[in-house]
Amino acid sequence: MDFGFTDEQEALARKVRDFAEERIAPGAARNDRERTFPPGFFTELGRAGLTGLGIPERHGGRGLGAVEVGIAVEELAKAEVTACYPVLNAALIGGIIDRNGTEEQKAAWLPPVAAGESVVALVLTEPDHGTDAAAIELRAERAGDGHGWVLTGTKTSIMLGAHATHGLVFARTGDDGARGVTAFYVPLDREGVSRDRLPDLGARAGGRATITFDRCAVSADEVVGEVGEGFVGVMRGFDHSRALIAVMAAASAQAALDDAMAFARERTAFGQPIGKHQGVAFPLVEHATRVRAARLLAYEALWRKDAGLDHRVEANMAKWWAPRVGVEATHQALLTFGHRGWHDEHPISRRMRDAIGPEIADGTENATKLVVARQLLGREHAP
Ligand SMILES: Cc1cc2nc3c(=O)[nH]c(=O)nc-3n(C[C@H](O)[C@H](O)[C@H](O)COP(=O)(O)OP(=O)(O)OC[C@H]3O[C@@H](n4cnc5c(N)ncnc54)[C@H](O)[C@@H]3O)c2cc1C
Repeated sequence: MDFGFTDEQEALARKVRDFAEERIAPGAARNDRERTFPPGFFTELGRAGLTGLGIPERHGGRGLGAVEVGIAVEELAKAEVTACYPVLNAALIGGIIDRNGTEEQKAAWLPPVAAGESVVALVLTEPDHGTDAAAIELRAERAGDGHGWVLTGTKTSIMLGAHATHGLVFARTGDDGARGVTAFYVPLDREGVSRDRLPDLGARAGGRATITFDRCAVSADEVVGEVGEGFVGVMRGFDHSRALIAVMAAASAQAALDDAMAFARERTAFGQPIGKHQGVAFPLVEHATRVRAARLLAYEALWRKDAGLDHRVEANMAKWWAPRVGVEATHQALLTFGHRGWHDEHPISRRMRDAIGPEIADGTENATKLVVARQLLGREHAP
């Protein structure tokens, strides 16, 4: 057993931590208030190497593993959870293109993703289909020339949807069910694409959006993987992003607890620091214990992925548990601040709002428990 990072991983953590403290944390409140990132934000992430972590070196990335992406989002999440989404999407979609794309597609698409010049969104959820994503209805029909496709339909809840230059769009090309879905890599400035930003509770800079495709033409070269294999083939790898979201959630909660503990040392009530009251200290200890355990579970999933081991159970356990634990820990941290935490401009109130999104993003608690139940009980004995 080894619970530590390697020297290289420690160095990566320090580097990202320094970057996050200098470049991300100071702008977090403004990003939240203005509901956007500043100009140049994504290319700055790219220059810092954060959008190319998992992309192979020959395509402009750093060729690092899942644990390293976890380390990066962990350090970013301590500064601003919302800043993790571009890194998460680049790792997820970069990985999908790397596994499923042709050599030409990889050479054309991956370097700009690694550089932060292409900002990528995962365009799957629809107004009528979220958990039952295999039932999506956005249609891709053969174009008149018989080669390309025409996309028509609406997607919603797309994180970074307002910022993204490209979307990995899942569309129905065949019959009902998972086998009739194809993935397309689509520039989002194309004719026929329109976007509406959603007024969100948290992760406000993230630009979650509804994206409408009105007879949007895509070429045969923009199909990722095989036609009809979008769901079954291309979506493999989602367990990776679930474990990353778990790391993000645990890291943000840890930062919230750290802030609460610092406050508990300083603030006095009844003549002593409030941390001296068991009613303040022990709940913080309980949440710190859970957050630590959830973080380890998430890293176990990432470590198993890098080791080439099945990590579905660990990733999906971490995905339902860490965001839940994170919300509860952040709530306790907020209460520790008393009335100060209720103020809109106190960092803990933003952390509280931002903490809830990861409970839903990339599959709700029930969706991930379904995966675990089928593994633990067997498909025939599970919901
Ligand atoms: C912050 C955030 C970021 C997101 N980012 C993206 C993104 O980038 N791209 C994208 O495509 N989507 C994204 N989503 C959408 C997200 O993936 C969906 O919201 C999620 O999969 C759930 O789908 P739904 O909201 O339609 O809920 P529904 O499927 O309508 O479910 C509603 C409720 O019913 C429960 N439920 C549904 N079916 C079952 C069942 N069989 N058994 C038990 N319970 C069930 C669910 O758990 C949920 O509580 C994001 C969402 C959020 C909040």
